[in-house]
Amino acid sequence: MFLKGKTALITGSTSGIGLAYAKAFAAEGAAVMINGFGDADAIEAERAGLTETSGAGALYDPADMTKPGEIARMVARCHAELGGPDIVVNNAGIQFVSPVTEFPKDKWDAIIAINLTSAFHVMQAAIPHMRVKRWGRIISTASAHSLVASPNKAAYVAAKHGLAGLSKSVALETATDGITVNCISPGYVWTPLVENQIPDTMKARGLTREQVINDVLLAAQPTKQFVTPEEVAAFALFLCRDEAASITGANLTADGGWTAA
Ligand code: NAD
Repeated sequence: MFLKGKTALITGSTSGIGLAYAKAFAAEGAAVMINGFGDADAIEAERAGLTETSGAGALYDPADMTKPGEIARMVARCHAELGGPDIVVNNAGIQFVSPVTEFPKDKWDAIIAINLTSAFHVMQAAIPHMRVKRWGRIISTASAHSLVASPNKAAYVAAKHGLAGLSKSVALETATDGITVNCISPGYVWTPLVENQIPDTMKARGLTREQVINDVLLAAQPTKQFVTPEEVAAFALFLCRDEAASITGANLTADGGWTAA
């Protein structure tokens, strides 16, 4: 329970990788604030489970990551009701697949806002609290797409490259404050985000579902296996250890060898 006494705030944690982070932090005794959209009863069940696991409290905040005011209020509420935040994970993210010439402008704006700009707002609100304690961990779920591109994902690739750059810059600004700032960049993880892009990729490339899974998604991944949310969460837990104090400004892959190719 090495995170007893710490509070972790994870954006986009009602599902997928974010929920795995919340479970991993709670299992180490951290109080957690989860965030994201979804069925109210299902979210409440997850929140109650997290409270039981951590023994230190779990709250849900519905802040929309496209709304700076709601993000600031969420961080302030976390500080007031749970303390910290000592650990923040910028994880909320969406995807949209389309050729750039037809890419809907509102989808571009939403992806940049949720996958990139929200991390700026979270960091701006959370860092002052971390500086007071001279300890903090900021982790952003970037992606293999923060390092390499794929066609038809202009907004996602732009946002994730931006997130990697933002993290490096903030790592330098906080380097003497006991705060580390890193990205974890997974390859394909089997979550609703990946499942939901299959129909659009089928349409964009004229492929069957099986062809998208094997020839588009897993084609990029030398291991031919999806990364699991639990593997990504275990990586984040390590970054929260004191032994990881010198790891900052890094973009760390967990991509089955994708970006080695
Ligand atoms: P997911 O769809 O399971 O989870 C996304 C989460 O973000 C959900 O909790 C959702 O409610 C939340 N969210 C979406 N829009 C939001 C908004 N406006 N405000 C607040 N919350 C919002 O997807 P996931 O695969 O678990 O993705 C999590 C992160 O991991 C994303 O940033 C994604 O880009 C990144 N990632 C995923 C993969 C993958 O293969 N699944 C690979 C690399 C990186």
